[in-house]
Amino acid sequence: MTTITLVQGDITDQSVDVVVNAANSSLLGGGGVDGAIHRRGGPAILDACRKLRASHYGRGLPTGQAVATTAGALDARWVIHTVGPVYSATEDRSDLLASCYRESLRVADELGARTVAFPAVSAGIYGWPMDDAARIAIETVRATPTAVEEARFVLFDEQAYTAFADRLG
Ligand code: ADP
Repeated sequence: MTTITLVQGDITDQSVDVVVNAANSSLLGGGGVDGAIHRRGGPAILDACRKLRASHYGRGLPTGQAVATTAGALDARWVIHTVGPVYSATEDRSDLLASCYRESLRVADELGARTVAFPAVSAGIYGWPMDDAARIAIETVRATPTAVEEARFVLFDEQAYTAFADRLG
């Protein structure tokens, strides 16, 4: 079983095997975590994303899926890009958000990763309420069989950290 840890900070500062990116389906960069990872990781990540688009994901990476690239200049071996669902008040998209964590851990296992840093996927630009995003993230990681030893949630601000800490218990 993986150990869940919480850190308040910037995910691009983490020394881990894998940094998970809350990407958009274009894989070509965006704001929030995505922008920070590309800025800090340098052009190698975008290059790898462009190649993936051309070879496998002509129409973009579908929501809930995950794919790995180099981590470029980050202090990590890989970035796993996953596309969270945009929050909807009228449609339950929880399973797509859970899928982001399951699929990221599956890809991390394929790579042989032992430490994985996650952001609060969908809880920024995609509008998911932080408490619910934290519940889904923690429940899903707890319930997913994996050889990953540490799943580290890296929360950008105190409100996000508190939401995750309350859920972790
Ligand atoms: P999404 O589009 O999936 O909502 P965002 O990147 O907009 O993704 O936001 C996801 C969460 O990551 C938000 O809580 C946001 O505050 C946080 N965040 C933004 N930048 C960073 C960073 N550098 N490290 C960690 N978390 C970050």
